[in-house]
Amino acid sequence: MTIHADLRSDTITLPSDAMKQAMIEAELGDDVLGDEPTVLKLQDTVATLFGKEAACFVPSGTMANQAAIRAQTQPGDEIITHRDNHIYLYESGAWAAISGCSIRLLDGDGGQFDAQSVLAAIQHEDAHYPNSSLLVVENTHNRGGGTVWSMDRLQSVTDAARQHGLRCHLDGARIWNACAASGIEPSTYAGCFDTVSACFSKGLGCPVGSIVAGDAETIHRVHRIRKLLGGTMRQSGMLAGACMHALEHNRNRLADDHQRARRLADAIAGIPGLELGPSPVETNILYFDVPGNADEFTARLEAAGIRMFSVGPRTVRAVLSLMVDDEGIDRTIEVLTDLAES
Ligand SMILES: *Cc1c(COP(=O)(O)O)cnc(C)c1O
Repeated sequence: MTIHADLRSDTITLPSDAMKQAMIEAELGDDVLGDEPTVLKLQDTVATLFGKEAACFVPSGTMANQAAIRAQTQPGDEIITHRDNHIYLYESGAWAAISGCSIRLLDGDGGQFDAQSVLAAIQHEDAHYPNSSLLVVENTHNRGGGTVWSMDRLQSVTDAARQHGLRCHLDGARIWNACAASGIEPSTYAGCFDTVSACFSKGLGCPVGSIVAGDAETIHRVHRIRKLLGGTMRQSGMLAGACMHALEHNRNRLADDHQRARRLADAIAGIPGLELGPSPVETNILYFDVPGNADEFTARLEAAGIRMFSVGPRTVRAVLSLMVDDEGIDRTIEVLTDLAES
């Protein structure tokens, strides 16, 4: 059966021929010995992009977040984050397993919260309470519908945390999407945070790769934790070469994904029976409710050559990426219209 559009995730992206060429041509060394030239170049480039002293290349976004958490907490500390954040929902409870921390969850629309709720969540100094030591923010927010944080709000929540001595980590798996949507520089977002993680393996189209950036001392700790977690790689310049290629060639096209997501969202809003999620569609992710069971709906979509994930009893998610073009969206809209009627 032909698949006309695969909207399950932006993690499905396959490397282009040009990216594969960049991987083949990457200069290689041994990153465990510290002389992998392409990894060193990528780490330097990303540290500069984020305005940080250093960066550490890791296999996955989960390892990037969890190494950053481990590097900035002690066992028994408490992390403050939104209840829909990836670090809490989708990383196997690693904050507890790897860092021995508890977690305090905040509410708010679209995966966002305000300074008041951060202040209310910070434990005051008393031997009874866990030590609040790290605030984690996600931008763009995956579960919240690809929402983009405003700089004002980022500044105010991180200011609130810092006033009480907390460190701040940005889960920037899709920070490139946030930058493409807002026009804000990576370094401006990163300026509010001690550490930033970012993925190359989603919208940027790489097969593998994530990174953590921060001050030299913290990244030194991240580097040790990467080893502890078994994430140290050797001729990883082949992967870093793909990431360098993606930074140069695939960032500018993210705006196309956002435009297609909006076109799909507008169409869904006009299809009787389908209900677009509450968050504004600002980037490449959208959620909508279907009549009846979401698993059955996505099975019928699949039979018509359109792939999406069901993520709740009635809720379906669609994610735009370089794997879906304008024709794919046209076809998706036709199929959705048919299915909603039948
Ligand atoms: C995908 C994702 C991650 C984790 O990345 P993996 O490479 O899948 O481990 C972390 N945070 C967010 C917001 C994500 O969407």
